Amino acid sequence: MKAAYRSRDTWRATFAEVVLQHEPGEDGACITCLRPAPCEIWTSLEDSNRGVFKEMEKLSGLDGRELELALYPERVTDRDFDGL
Ligand SMILES: [Zn+2]
Repeated sequence: MKAAYRSRDTWRATFAEVVLQHEPGEDGACITCLRPAPCEIWTSLEDSNRGVFKEMEKLSGLDGRELELALYPERVTDRDFDGL
């Protein structure tokens, strides 16, 4: 069970690392694609999986330490996975 959650955590963090590079900058354009935000990364994600899109949207609202903890939580025992 723990291995499955750990795998999910890794997948989620990797996905977030890619998607969160496509946030809008101050000029309203994607900071990576430089196209009007939301760029194709976000619109494709929303079209293909609304649940993952919402999760990524939630993560995009975090910054610094909060984001790091959300992406790389310290989970040691099975209990750490409670409530997921
Ligand atoms: Zn982009």
